[in-house]
Amino acid sequence: CGIVGYTGKNNSVEILLDSLSGLEYRGYDSAGISIFVNQDITTIKSVGRLERLRNRIEKLYPNLYSTCGIGHTRWATHGKPSDTNAHPHTTEKLSLIHNGIIENYQAIRKDLYDKGYEFVSETDTEVAVKLIDSLYTGNPIRTLFDIQKKLEGSYAFAMIFADHPGQIYAMRNSSTLICAKNEEGSFLSSDMPAILKYTQTYTLINEFEVVCLGSDQITIYTSEKETRNPEWQTAKWTM
Ligand code: GLU
Repeated sequence: CGIVGYTGKNNSVEILLDSLSGLEYRGYDSAGISIFVNQDITTIKSVGRLERLRNRIEKLYPNLYSTCGIGHTRWATHGKPSDTNAHPHTTEKLSLIHNGIIENYQAIRKDLYDKGYEFVSETDTEVAVKLIDSLYTGNPIRTLFDIQKKLEGSYAFAMIFADHPGQIYAMRNSSTLICAKNEEGSFLSSDMPAILKYTQTYTLINEFEVVCLGSDQITIYTSEKETRNPEWQTAKWTM
């Protein structure tokens, strides 16, 4: 039910957990993060409160450090709350988080199954990550505009690709997504209050746009080959 992302000069693990706590009011039953550690993606997730995720991280990976990652709080719609159904969902190529519902996931799941994909969770989200995996040949922007044509339903997605360390890709249809920045990095969030303590400079992503966040640049694609300038706004409130 909440999405956050950070890429920049500081430790994303702390920023992601802190921003997710700012989204707790939306409700959730599980939480997880995927981060780049030494150019590889590490994913940690847990059913239950954010505190459980935090404890699991501290136990499995003390002093975990990363400058790029995504974080999620889940409100289960397809599949019970469990560690396996918690997001992020991953393949070798990417790790993805999702808010919303993929309406046509059963038909896509069957197609992918026939192509040899196996499914470990009961979620509609796992179908989206495997669909992206099946189409991906190195160009995230092209793949994301491609899957917009295939997916029905409501979604905000954020993901990281193993071959694009330091970058976060996101897109939305219905569910809100905000990008924000400060001198030290770029942020992604379902809403602004969750990240207000880091920055007041934000911009909204429109439906069906695809956005790429790098540590010092945010690029908004309106189609595979076209970009637009972000309209930066300043949040009037402070935390
Ligand atoms: N439909 C997805 C699931 O059940 C995402 C739920 C959400 O928005 O948190 O896993």
